[in-house]
Amino acid sequence: MNTPALSVVVPVYNEEANIPLLIRELATTLDTLDHRSEIILVDDGSCDGSLQALRNAHAADPRIRVLSFEDNAGQSAAMAAGFRAARGEVIVTLDADLQNSPADIPLLLEKLPEYDMACGWRVNRQDPWLRRVSSRVANAVRNRVNDEQIRDTGCSLKAYKRACLERIKLYNGMHRFLPTLFRMEGFRVVEVQVGHTRRRHGTSKYNIGNRLVPSLFDLLAIRWMKKRRIHYRIREEFGETLD
Ligand code: UDP
Ligand code: MG
Repeated sequence: MNTPALSVVVPVYNEEANIPLLIRELATTLDTLDHRSEIILVDDGSCDGSLQALRNAHAADPRIRVLSFEDNAGQSAAMAAGFRAARGEVIVTLDADLQNSPADIPLLLEKLPEYDMACGWRVNRQDPWLRRVSSRVANAVRNRVNDEQIRDTGCSLKAYKRACLERIKLYNGMHRFLPTLFRMEGFRVVEVQVGHTRRRHGTSKYNIGNRLVPSLFDLLAIRWMKKRRIHYRIREEFGETLD
């Protein structure tokens, strides 16, 4: 059996120049690990040369699998498609633009299996000040409204047990709330300090208008889900189950 133990899932939207560098850095890290791995790159309807760069990457490294969307469907959709395709017991996500370093992946893997999810926490964030401030406000509001203590839910560098992820249905925008969704299922979540660098090539796909505003509505959806969670404890159970 050649099933990989680890699947790395990367959403890609117009990241042409980043792809060769990303693959090189990822391969260097994965080569140091004991387990077999696969890299699933999900092209979210890119309109630059990303798909060709992914074809080239696949031709050079058999660990690489590519899914390419017809149209831009959003980062949550790209991640959901990657999760569905993943075969590893453990899944790692990170951005294609190398703002997260693949070299930090082992730090997250160390925390599994004690935890079900390890989330990167960018202690020294390298984004423009407006982004840093708006993220800080968003994290504080999220934690307050959802009674949470996640310092950096927006960091894409995360490791998950696939069995846990399979219990979670993703909606658009909900990739930002995965730590809370995990905790709602009773799964154990830990934050791990990771590095962060400036974007090397290409531009950010988000601004205040398309991130902050929709994520405030998403926040209310999560709050509603938390409040409406079904709780019960079985007192007794009898009778044969049909199978
Ligand atoms: N991305 C995507 N679909 C989108 C927007 C972004 O697949 O509609 C990908 C993007 O290519 C990158 C990751 O999601 O790999 C995070 O996007 P970005 O780096 O622009 O976000 P930021 O770091 O600025 O928060
Ligand atoms: Mg980025």
